[in-house]
Amino acid sequence: MRDTDRALVQAATAVAKLRCRSDNHTVAAAVRSTDGRVFSGVNVFHFTGGPCAEVVAIGAAATQGAGELEAIVAVGDRGRGVIPPCGRCRQVLLDYFPSIRVIVGPPDGLRAVPVADLLPETYVWADQQPETPAAPRTGVWPMPVVPGVRQSAED
Ligand SMILES: [Zn+2]
Repeated sequence: MRDTDRALVQAATAVAKLRCRSDNHTVAAAVRSTDGRVFSGVNVFHFTGGPCAEVVAIGAAATQGAGELEAIVAVGDRGRGVIPPCGRCRQVLLDYFPSIRVIVGPPDGLRAVPVADLLPETYVWADQQPETPAAPRTGVWPMPVVPGVRQSAED
């Protein structure tokens, strides 16, 4: 790992210690743009599916006008250290920043790996779009007729 990657882990660790002090915020993430700037974020837990720290950090970077991001790491609260991104975040990272490296691994074996390595046989949305467009939507919901079933209004 590069010194800048170690610094990124330290940044996320510092944010986790400082800002992750309740069940609402339990993970901090730090990202580094290709021009060397570092942005951080914490997760926003909510039972409806609040965003992970990685997504919040990406949003913070976008808010500050960062362009391409080259590395990211997430660190858990209460001394849990580096934690790998969830499946959704892996897909988001791959779609937004295909060349980003993700710092993963145990404390004594941290390494920065290409995000594509974390998503073998990945779904790439752009590659799956048909060359010919589908027929335009009619705006009319198709109401299938099920034989032998009467409408409840007839009862
Ligand atoms: Zn996630």
